[in-house]
Amino acid sequence: MEIKKVMVIGAGQMGSGIAQVCAQAGFEVILNDMKQAFYERGIGVITKNLTRDVEKGRKTAEQKEAILGRITMSVDLNDAKDVDIIIEAAVENMEIKQTIFKQLDEIAPSHAILATNTSSLPITEIAAVTKRPAQVIGMHYMNPVPVMKLVEIIRGLATSDEVYQAVENMTYQLDKTPVEVNDFPGFISNRILMPMINEAVYALYEGVASKEAIDDVMKMGMNHPMGPLTLADFIGLDTCLYIMEVLHDGLGDSKYRPCPLLRKYVAAGWLGKKSGRGFYEYE
Ligand code: NAD
Repeated sequence: MEIKKVMVIGAGQMGSGIAQVCAQAGFEVILNDMKQAFYERGIGVITKNLTRDVEKGRKTAEQKEAILGRITMSVDLNDAKDVDIIIEAAVENMEIKQTIFKQLDEIAPSHAILATNTSSLPITEIAAVTKRPAQVIGMHYMNPVPVMKLVEIIRGLATSDEVYQAVENMTYQLDKTPVEVNDFPGFISNRILMPMINEAVYALYEGVASKEAIDDVMKMGMNHPMGPLTLADFIGLDTCLYIMEVLHDGLGDSKYRPCPLLRKYVAAGWLGKKSGRGFYEYE
């Protein structure tokens, strides 16, 4: 199964990164979002990343232009009609993802793979709304996509070996490292990371220490490159909350209950770096 043309759904922080690495690897990319303004925000981030690469001598100006030239705008899911793979990176919400997958299943060619960048939602449940569950798979990139090497590849219950192999090959073409994971809530990455972040929020909520102190302990004491509260701000507090809810519902253990302070911040619209304020403030 040869992959040449890729469609990415969602031009947010993950979708724009995925579009960038695909275009860098030579794939033709259609980047889709609901409105032109959202696409423009995404392509703006890609342009900024590539400009920095040129300034630092990691790419030439010609390479930057060639990469940007391989990305085209879409605000219509019908543009999926001639692609080989679709990588969905819309918001972390089962209803929204299932609606998108149902539509894509009708539009995309019969050979096309439908992949999702979900952080935690069951691949099997997303696949179940399509007539091609063998071609549905999780392709979970890490943030920031252009920098991070790992891609968790998650097999749904029905995912075929051929589709797994095609996605694994594509991951290597993107100069990333695939790790195979089975379909359980949070997979590996967020099954382990999110409870740690949630515990850091509890420590803040209970007044164990200040946010700076919590982050310092984990940075200097555990050698983490970034403290858990800063990391939560980068991931997006809405995404963190949603993943904790998925773990709580899916695994049924009270140890996964989301911290009330996390809920409060999300309700206030304090979503982290992307909204200008989370545990910390951003320009
Ligand atoms: P984001 O809010 O930055 O971007 C989401 C984008 O999807 C927005 O631009 C929005 O307009 C668009 N969108 C929403 N509904 C759409 C639709 N129906 N059609 C087309 N576009 C639509 O979110 P993000 O952080 O990029 O996360 C996207 C996905 O990636 C989520 O499933 C998330 O769990 C997952 N993920 C996030 C991270 C992270 O660190 N943020 C890491 C790995 C995976």
